[in-house]
Amino acid sequence: METIRAVQLIEVGRPLELREVPLPAVGPDDVLVRVRAAGVCHSDVHYADGLASTGPLPQTLGHEVSGEVKAVGSAVRTPVVGAKVALHYLTTCGRCEYCRSASEQFCEEGLMIGKDRDGGYAEYIAIPAASVVPLPDGVPFEQGAVAMCSSATVFHALRKSRLQPSESVAVFGAGGLGMSAIQLALAFGALAVYAVDINAERLRVAESLGAIPIDASSSDPVAEIRDRTGCGVDVSLELIGLADVMQQAVRALGPLGRAVLVGLADRPLEIDTYNELLGKEAEVIGCSDHLCSELPDLLDFVQQGRLDLSVVVTQTIPLESDAVNAALDNLRQFGAGVRTVIVP
Ligand SMILES: [Zn+2]
Ligand SMILES: [Zn+2]
Repeated sequence: METIRAVQLIEVGRPLELREVPLPAVGPDDVLVRVRAAGVCHSDVHYADGLASTGPLPQTLGHEVSGEVKAVGSAVRTPVVGAKVALHYLTTCGRCEYCRSASEQFCEEGLMIGKDRDGGYAEYIAIPAASVVPLPDGVPFEQGAVAMCSSATVFHALRKSRLQPSESVAVFGAGGLGMSAIQLALAFGALAVYAVDINAERLRVAESLGAIPIDASSSDPVAEIRDRTGCGVDVSLELIGLADVMQQAVRALGPLGRAVLVGLADRPLEIDTYNELLGKEAEVIGCSDHLCSELPDLLDFVQQGRLDLSVVVTQTIPLESDAVNAALDNLRQFGAGVRTVIVP
């Protein structure tokens, strides 16, 4: 039997292990992808530590994946062997009500690669052809891989916000998600993007990407945004997951403003309903994951240089358990700011 190398979660709370596993079987609707890049994400720490559940163990982690198609199932027309692709991290049934209404993140049979089924910390991965998108020429595998998670979710959030050219945007949280959010909001045509954070270094990076920095450690960001805009912003994004910051994101809105909540908070959001919602006809919009159909547009922004992810990929490592475990430790210590990509 042909085998491949894969770095797997064997038991929650234990370091990942490099194992020889069978070459994945390719069903009629699947493609076999030679993995060229797999991002190490903060969510992987949660799976390894048992803070978020996974499918049956052992499980190959890795949901930010790009590579080359090595084989295709008998029913697959595209992609063809040799194509460079990036992988949508959700595999879906394609038949249920949600799949048929382009809301496949709610698919009743949806499975996430690297969580519910084997992912990309491996030499090869088999995945339905419907879950791969072409990687445009000139986009490095590493950038294609890391675009598949946080950038894609921010892209979805901006689409949910119905941002129009010449509108203003406030991005609460200028970390990894924020860096993509600032660039994408400008690419969508935003007239002004305010970046709110308490970290001076993150604010400096945000400013270099074209945002107007708002230091929430030394001023009230809502007052500051109202001061600069007159009546508040059209769109705000909450990317941190703190109830107080969610409240600021809503209070920073002007009339007809839309606040999109992306971060997960463990406390309820408290809102002065008349002054912050009804009276302004403002909207609070939830955002969960993203759609496969959004990924080609997102990758076009990367190809055009309007979403520069080179600053996001801080290091590449080989497919070895020590290196991968060290990358996970790095995330445990320093949070989502650093981005390591496995190059198997
Ligand atoms: Zn991720
Ligand atoms: Zn479905």
